[in-house]
Amino acid sequence: MLSEFDLIRRYFQRPHRPGQAVLGIGDDCALLAPRPGMQLAVSTDMLVEGRHFFAGADARQLGHKALAVNLSDLAAMGARPLAFTLSLALPAADPAWLEPFAEGLFALADAHGCELIGGDTTKGPLTISITVFGEIAPGHALRRADAQVSDDIWISGTLGDARLALAGYLNEVPLTADELATAAPRMHAPTPRVALGLALAGAPDTGETNARAAANADADSAPVRAGAAHNKRLAHAALDISDGLTGDLGHILKASNVGATLDADALPAGPALAVQPQDLRRRYTAAGGDDYELCFTAPAAHRAAIAAAGVHTGTRVTRVGTIDAAPGLRFVDAAGQPLDLNVRAWDHFSAE
Ligand code: ADP
Ligand code: MG
Repeated sequence: MLSEFDLIRRYFQRPHRPGQAVLGIGDDCALLAPRPGMQLAVSTDMLVEGRHFFAGADARQLGHKALAVNLSDLAAMGARPLAFTLSLALPAADPAWLEPFAEGLFALADAHGCELIGGDTTKGPLTISITVFGEIAPGHALRRADAQVSDDIWISGTLGDARLALAGYLNEVPLTADELATAAPRMHAPTPRVALGLALAGAPDTGETNARAAANADADSAPVRAGAAHNKRLAHAALDISDGLTGDLGHILKASNVGATLDADALPAGPALAVQPQDLRRRYTAAGGDDYELCFTAPAAHRAAIAAAGVHTGTRVTRVGTIDAAPGLRFVDAAGQPLDLNVRAWDHFSAE
C-alpha cells in the first residue's frame, strides 16, 4: 500500500524547473515570486464525486477538468497562469486511478506553463480541490462590475454541448451514440480560454499559450519578458460561464448595475446541439451549464480588434447582444421579436 508521502512523490512531485515558483512541493509552504509591479490573481474550484462528476468517471479526464475549470477563472479575469495547488481526498491510494489522473492534470498544466507547487492529501470521499495563481498588471483585470451601457456582449467558442451530453446520459433527451460522442468531450474536457482572456485584458503577447512552458526549459530565459509593454484592454467586463449563460451574465448585470438584450438565435450552439430542435437549442445555449466559455462585454469600437484577437488565439468569438440601461435580461429572436425562454440558472442549493 502506498503511503501518503510515497503517493505525493510518485505522482505529483516532479523535478523542479525554473519557472515562477521559487520553491515547490516538499516544504511547509511553496514560494511564489510574481514579477515586480504585477498583481497575483487567485482562484479555487472544487470537484466533488456525485455532485460535479459521476462516480467512476474517467480519471484522466478528471485530472484535465479539475485544472481546466480553475484556469478558466484565470482566463475570465485576463490573468496569466503561474502555478497551482492540489488538495485531494481519495477513498484509496489506487495507482490505476492516480496515474491517469496525474497524466491528464499535467498535460494541461504543461500546455499552460502552470506548475504544481503543493497541496494536501487525505483519505475520504473523492474530492479534488485546486487553487490557481496567476499574474495580471494593475488595472487590466476583467471585472464583473465594469460593463458599460451600449457595450456589445460576446461569447467565446460554443455553448450547450456539455448540457446536451448530460441530458443524453440522464435520458432526458434521446441521443444517438454519435451525437453523444460529439457532445461528451465538452462535458468531460472543457478548454480554458486562457489566450483569449489575456488578449482581452491587453496582456503582452507571448505567442503560443505554451510559450512559458518552452521558456521554462531554459534557465536563462525569463518566461515573459520583464516589463513587456501592455496593450489596451479590449473588454470591459468578463466571466466564465459555468452555471449557464443566463445566470452568469446576470452576475455581470447585477455587479455593473445594467441590463441586457440577447439575441437567442445568435447564441453559438456546439456542433451536437446545433442539429437539435430550435427550442432545445435556445434553452441549452441560454442556460446550459459546464460550458467554460467566456462571456465578455466590450465597446463597439473594439469589434475589429476583438475579431482579430479571436483569429490570433484560434478562438471563435460571437457577438450575441447588447448591454442596456434598463435592468433585467431580455431575449429576442433573429427578427428582434421578444422571446420568453423561461430558463433559470443552476444553483447548488436551490436546485436538486
Ligand atoms: P504539511 O503537513 O506541512 O501541511 P503535508 O505533509 O500535507 O505538509 O505535505 C507535504 C508536502 O507535499 C507539502 O509541500 C505539500 O504542499 C505537498 N503535497 C501534499 N499533497 C499534495 C498533492 N496532492 N499534490 C501536490 N503536493 C502535495
Ligand atoms: Mg498537510
